[in-house]
Amino acid sequence: MNNCKVILLGTNGWYDTATGNTISILVDIPNYYIVLDAGNGIYKLDNYLIEDKPVYLFISHYHLDHTVGLHILPKFKIKNKLFIIGPNNAKKFFKFFIEAPFTTPLKDIKYPIEILEMPIDYQKIPFDCEILAMRHSIYCQGIRIEVSGKVITYCPDTGYCENAVKLSKNADILLTECANPSGYTNPNWPHLNPETAAQIAKEASAKKLVLVHFDAEVYDNFDKRNNAEKIAHQIFDNAVAGRDGDEFII
Ligand SMILES: [Zn+2]
Ligand SMILES: [Zn+2]
Repeated sequence: MNNCKVILLGTNGWYDTATGNTISILVDIPNYYIVLDAGNGIYKLDNYLIEDKPVYLFISHYHLDHTVGLHILPKFKIKNKLFIIGPNNAKKFFKFFIEAPFTTPLKDIKYPIEILEMPIDYQKIPFDCEILAMRHSIYCQGIRIEVSGKVITYCPDTGYCENAVKLSKNADILLTECANPSGYTNPNWPHLNPETAAQIAKEASAKKLVLVHFDAEVYDNFDKRNNAEKIAHQIFDNAVAGRDGDEFII
């Protein structure tokens, strides 16, 4: 069985509301668990960590809606080892942040943890992945994972950019943020809207687009997410608005 499963643990951007928790996604592949970002949704991870496999947690950037869940690490019963992978300065930032007085210090967590920093620790990732810079207010990195003949792409906080299209090329599943409402862009604080997310999927010939990271203030109910899905559909047929708990087998 070489199926990959994608499970949406948190699909909000910015803060938690009745529509969901902030962003976190589990990708369950044959030999590894991969977690994309550590928003509050990461607290659900324990429900899915059944097998004795290493966990690779990719942090796209240091905005708190992607990192605040790191204080939940002591709750997890990780049977193997956790790798936390971040952009430049990951070692410095995580050692500062996952530490008193903010949270339980790394050294007191009861399973092994290693911090990896991109791009210098690329060779320590045991599966095929490519990481490229997104277009955001601070440095943010997207990821393309190729495993068992499947391509899983995650484009977190970004405006439309060539790197997002490149990472998404022929992806079996493309997870993009959709923080902005239809028709809205702000060059000073770049994010995707339903149209630009769908445009990336279309240009990249992706097979499926899942919209996540809906801004909590803009998308304050599911009707608004459904409407984003309809708008994305007009540009890219196989688009869905994700919700916490959704699972996709690819
Ligand atoms: Zn964000
Ligand atoms: Zn951000």
